[in-house]
Amino acid sequence: MFYADLKHFKAKTGYEIDGVWYPRVTSIVSIKAKPALYKFYADQGSFSMAESIKSRSADEGTLIHETIEAILGEKSVAIPFSIKPAIDAFVEFKKKNEIVPMKVEERVVSKNHWYAGTVDVIGKLNGRLGILDIKTSYSIYRDYGLQTAAYVEAVRENNIFPTTRWVLRIDQAKTCQKCGAKLREKGGNIKIRGGANNCQHSWGPILGDIELKELDSFENDIKAFLACRNLWEWEHDFWIKKIKNGVSL
Ligand SMILES: [Zn+2]
Repeated sequence: MFYADLKHFKAKTGYEIDGVWYPRVTSIVSIKAKPALYKFYADQGSFSMAESIKSRSADEGTLIHETIEAILGEKSVAIPFSIKPAIDAFVEFKKKNEIVPMKVEERVVSKNHWYAGTVDVIGKLNGRLGILDIKTSYSIYRDYGLQTAAYVEAVRENNIFPTTRWVLRIDQAKTCQKCGAKLREKGGNIKIRGGANNCQHSWGPILGDIELKELDSFENDIKAFLACRNLWEWEHDFWIKKIKNGVSL
């Protein structure tokens, strides 16, 4: 990634809160290599195609996030047709589980470790206080532990004490009526997973797919996150020095 100047670097990798600039959690965790991403890029044929799919897929993820956050905040919201199956699955989940949000889409800051991030939900799920992170991915990746541990650590500095972390994965897909393969279309990228190779698939309707996972091993995850943070700082040494020396834009 090329940064034209300090202003560009700051805008791309962090945010300013009460006059102090902090690196963003998602930028920090991106320092960790993600080998699966190379395969995704290779599969798309060209770099620009992969970038375009990634960006449209992120838009869809943002739309799902915004809609769910509106529902949790009890704001009225029009549910876009394109993500209705995913939202229906969430509404169903909400009926079966007691979610009591304290904060939704909350900016949190760790002054001790110099980073900031945005937590989807701080609140109670079935009576327990925790951090709930909403993901719109195909599966729940181990890397999510780093991000959510960082949020817990920051929230604790602000005198709220979550006892756990959950990832709520929300997605939508068609299932083959014959072999059980799943077809997922995201950002214009059609991907078929599982099932039988030689099946003449017969796709059912698009259905929401929801999965809740509680993450344990907070201590390991926060250690790994802080290692990422240190590495991130090393990688961006050129800019960080300017920031720490109080160089103005
Ligand atoms: Zn099939």
